[in-house]
Amino acid sequence: MGKVAFIGLGIMGKPMSKNLIKAGHELVVFDIDKAALEELKQAGAEIAVSPRDAASKANTIITMLPNSPQVKAVVLGKDGVIEGAQKGSIVVDMSSIAPLVAREVSAALSQKGIRMLDAPVSGGQPKAIDGTLSIMVGGAQADFDEILPIFKAMGSSAVLTGTVGAGNVTKLANQIIVAINIAAVSEALVMATKAGVDPDLVYKAIRGGLAGSTVLDAKAPLMMDRKFNPGFRINLHIKDLGNVLETSHEIGVSLPLSAVVMEIMQALKADGMGDLDHGAMVQFYEKLAHVEVKR
Ligand code: NAD
Repeated sequence: MGKVAFIGLGIMGKPMSKNLIKAGHELVVFDIDKAALEELKQAGAEIAVSPRDAASKANTIITMLPNSPQVKAVVLGKDGVIEGAQKGSIVVDMSSIAPLVAREVSAALSQKGIRMLDAPVSGGQPKAIDGTLSIMVGGAQADFDEILPIFKAMGSSAVLTGTVGAGNVTKLANQIIVAINIAAVSEALVMATKAGVDPDLVYKAIRGGLAGSTVLDAKAPLMMDRKFNPGFRINLHIKDLGNVLETSHEIGVSLPLSAVVMEIMQALKADGMGDLDHGAMVQFYEKLAHVEVKR
């Protein structure tokens, strides 16, 4: 197995890179956060001084960064991956970014003979720790097949959905469904509570029918227990919906429901709730109706 570079050791990148070490991969890591670097050094990784340095020491280069601007800076910027990576190496960007930026970065890399997969994940920190993430991949079949053993060390499923950018298109589709579903669950439970019906009984009555969903089962109990610690932060979902709307405007698609849910999340952020779980969306509706959804 060749050496793997891992850049971006945050909430997700730290456990993902540790799982690669556990699976027997030799790792060279970089982050601007010195404490994260020290933690990975203790776990057995080599420390690089820049993305360029990390890329020059490996033939597979994984990035797990906040959003499009950071991926562009780390891969294409000064002292970036593109300056260090050898011809024939492969960049696997696992951050959730705008699909059009993934294509732009891939085009720049291919000018230098460097391949790329975009491979965002869903599952959050617990699944990053367990190595059971769902990985949505865009790129060439042969590149996907080559990287599959690495994906298997971090996730329980990896699906190739198309060419570069398709991984992030799939992730955005996922984030649209989750955001609108949480809003629908919030509206329904606030309405039932205000109408004087126990929301827990409503939940139990409807969860097996057509209204049932993974989102309903994950979020309704937390809303009723008033548990809003993340989970998945409203601020991160705002970032993803920003990419959803930017992409839809650029390709000429109208997404009215995504736009409304984006504004609901903006209101919650303005009210100081950006670092709460996205299930806290119920509090937006509770304020409008002067009611609290609880068992
Ligand atoms: P994070 O903010 O915890 O980690 C990002 C890391 O990137 C940090 O350690 C930061 O220091 C580093 N970084 C930023 N700029 C850098 C630069 N220029 N050079 C080197 N390092 C730099 O974020 P996260 O929660 O780990 O998320 C990473 C990506 O995964 C995001 O795109 C996010 O949307 C996505 N994601 C997150 C979750 C989740 O539950 N946290 C779930 C699924 C997907």
